[in-house]
Amino acid sequence: MKYVYFFGAGQAEGTGDMREVLGGKGAGLAEMTRIGLPVPAGFTITTETCDYYFKHGRKYPKQLRADVAKSVTRLEKLTKKKLGDASDPLLVSVRSGSARSMPGMMETILNLGLNDRSVEGLAKATNNDRFAWDAYRRFVQMYSSVVIGLPKEELEVRLRSMKNSLGVKDDTQVTAEGWRQLVGEYKSYFKQKTGKDFPQDPIEQLWGAIGAVFESWMGEKAVTYRRVEKITGLLGTAVNIVQMVFGNTGENSGTGVCFTRDPSTGEKTFFGDFLLNAQGEDVVAGIRTPMHLSELKDRMPKVYQQLERVREKLERHYRDMQDMEFTVENGTLYMLQTRTGKRSPAAAFQMAVDMANEKLIKVEEALERVKSEDIERLFYPVLDPKTQRGDLISRKLAEGINAVPGAAVGKAVFTAHEAEEWAARGERVILVRRETSPEDVGGMYVAQGILTATGGKTSHAAVVARGWGKCCIVGAEKLDINADTKQMSVDGRVVREGEWVTLDGGDGSVYTGEIALVRPEPPKAYETLMKWADKVRTLGVRTNADTPKDARAARAMGAEGIGLCRTEHMFFKDFEHPEKSAERQEAIQEMILADTSEARRKALDKLLPFQRRDFIGLFEAMDGYPVTIRLLDPPLHEFVPHDPAKQEELAKKIGISAEAVARRVEQLHEANPMLGHRGCRLSITFPEILEMQVRAIIEAAIDCKKRGVKVLPEIMHPLTLDKKELKILEVATRRVADEIISQSKVKLEYLVGTMIELPRAALLADQIAEVAEFFSFGTNDLTQTTMGLSRDDAGRFLPEYVDQAKAAIFKDDPFQTLDVEGVGMLILWAIARGRKTRPKLKIGICGEHGGDAESVKFCHRAGMNYVSASPFRVPIARLAAAQAVIEAKTSK
Ligand code: PEP
Ligand code: MG
Repeated sequence: MKYVYFFGAGQAEGTGDMREVLGGKGAGLAEMTRIGLPVPAGFTITTETCDYYFKHGRKYPKQLRADVAKSVTRLEKLTKKKLGDASDPLLVSVRSGSARSMPGMMETILNLGLNDRSVEGLAKATNNDRFAWDAYRRFVQMYSSVVIGLPKEELEVRLRSMKNSLGVKDDTQVTAEGWRQLVGEYKSYFKQKTGKDFPQDPIEQLWGAIGAVFESWMGEKAVTYRRVEKITGLLGTAVNIVQMVFGNTGENSGTGVCFTRDPSTGEKTFFGDFLLNAQGEDVVAGIRTPMHLSELKDRMPKVYQQLERVREKLERHYRDMQDMEFTVENGTLYMLQTRTGKRSPAAAFQMAVDMANEKLIKVEEALERVKSEDIERLFYPVLDPKTQRGDLISRKLAEGINAVPGAAVGKAVFTAHEAEEWAARGERVILVRRETSPEDVGGMYVAQGILTATGGKTSHAAVVARGWGKCCIVGAEKLDINADTKQMSVDGRVVREGEWVTLDGGDGSVYTGEIALVRPEPPKAYETLMKWADKVRTLGVRTNADTPKDARAARAMGAEGIGLCRTEHMFFKDFEHPEKSAERQEAIQEMILADTSEARRKALDKLLPFQRRDFIGLFEAMDGYPVTIRLLDPPLHEFVPHDPAKQEELAKKIGISAEAVARRVEQLHEANPMLGHRGCRLSITFPEILEMQVRAIIEAAIDCKKRGVKVLPEIMHPLTLDKKELKILEVATRRVADEIISQSKVKLEYLVGTMIELPRAALLADQIAEVAEFFSFGTNDLTQTTMGLSRDDAGRFLPEYVDQAKAAIFKDDPFQTLDVEGVGMLILWAIARGRKTRPKLKIGICGEHGGDAESVKFCHRAGMNYVSASPFRVPIARLAAAQAVIEAKTSK
């Protein structure tokens, strides 16, 4: 096994594609050397060595000592300098670097090789005493804290008192003598703490540094960072030992960071900062204000031109935007690092489109470069990046599950009713609830954001909020939310009604107070890239929308139909005419409280015109694209009030006794409503509900058709578990529909199909397809029923299941990213069996997974016809569907 890779003088043993073994920095240095860029020489100890070190009780592989010694000799030959030399010593930097960038999480040691002898050599060679002793004190300081672990503060104290005694404020004012004195103090502190002299042998120093870099891989900072960033499967860090070049030797030197394009806008301009007469850590520390590259152009035109050429060469070579570090030593440019640069979501689009237009990359590559998070973050407001970090930390109240991204600011209110009242007065509110029910929908609609203490990503609140693209944090378990006292609290901190709160749906953080938000502007490149995606993809993309407004928004996002309209969402709120909401609520509640089918029918008759109008709006918005309307699904108890005061109010309104209301609500109670009297079971027992809804759909379609609006209704039965069951519903559906159609004398086509949401339905798909003209996988329920995990409650323990540092049972939350192994197997089975019976069976998905990139790719591979996603996730689905085609091609 090869543990050490050398590079220098235009030749390198490693290559740019060896990131896993050499780390990002090592691979970049090797590649830059190969393509002839000015890179200081050095060598990289592999990540495999780090892996060996930890697997063998912190021991190095036997041959490593010899390999490192050989490389040091080679480096000395190449640079014509020697470590520890008394006249012109070789100095090296020792830096970490893993395959994935972990900025600032691991250790670096600079100026290694300095000792009491070589410091004089450096002073001689540079003719600069002050510089040499400053370099030495920096080294002793870094070595003492990083390698030995002495407290930084103790060293800082000595630095400060030295400056005080000299009567100077800035480091730049310290004389050679001052630095020499400080080195002496550091060394005696070192001896006092360790009982040993500060190591003078450069090789001993080098091994100390190598060990410290490896150890920093397992340091708390690095371990936490990997957990938070979900970085897994890496071997460890590499160690890069590179000849030191100095940016702090005078006004003809300096150090900088630059990007081949602007990382925040994506614009093709050379972007970066340069700090005159400074070392790398001065840039990172941000103590001095750097100059813009354009200034460098004036001050060092030759260096700038050379840097421009490097920029072009590197971008052409890597075919992506590069983030580079460089140093200028006495007018000579050295490249110290290059990596593919991080970029803002807008820049990701701009660069992908520009680079494809410049023919630097293919259109397919441009499509693969953009990630679903880039799209998500393009549309939602976010916390103003200028907000002080310290401010955020002190304001942080709690953390929940980041169900819908974006940020929201508003005054806390604790009931949906109050949310509506406050919003009507023009207030911005955040609706805070322990959990939400469909009853809260009005309050949720007017709120800027929603916060709940329970639930997971597919809980009611999350699903509804996602549909609106509204910031939503669920499952903030630590919050004690009390709707009676109108306050929430955590660890003694209390937020009362009317006090400002800010939600960051991006990471699930809840803050007290009003934090400024900004809304990113989608760039033109977004439209271009999405058009390219549409050309490539074969999978249809529809939307889950319940109102004409959502449907129109989804069309603007590129939806080609509605894959799921949840009709029950219309029962509580009239989104087009809010003043009529109460009438609807009353009608549905009256229907539920009715004892006889006559009474039920009478109440349903009141609902009919509302539903018809809803559907007309949807058909118009979709203008000829298919619209799948699902008949009533939730258990009826969700529509009636549970607290006595509200029950009494309702009783009065519909003219029955409060006891009768209470009795009926009691009757409707189920121990496990999710597996209870819901879905198409409602239409089996109360066929009048089906009749009213089918009538509303068909009459709406006919109305549209008569006015020249093209319509394609698809009537969908939820939660079917049996062919006989579906047959009864299909017959009833067609009886109502066909009669209306024949009376109207309008020719209207419609489909009758079912959701597949239960394992039994999936298993018996061949039989069900004898009746159903289409399948739509309701993967929220199918995941719930296949896994036996409640979609509303699993948020309590699922985080531990997906946390790679804890149980690590799942890679992803199965309610968010489809469990391809288990639930996916049922889907594949159902598709194969369904199409066996009915080869042209139309198949889609309308669970939340329809808007998740990985799941969409699975749906493509599974041969579905379309996916259906909430409006704001339609672009994610479009892009993922195109990426699925490209991935299938490249994996062949
Ligand atoms: C589903 O179960 O996946 C689905 C779309 O239906 P709902 O979320 O309304 O239960
Ligand atoms: Mg369902």
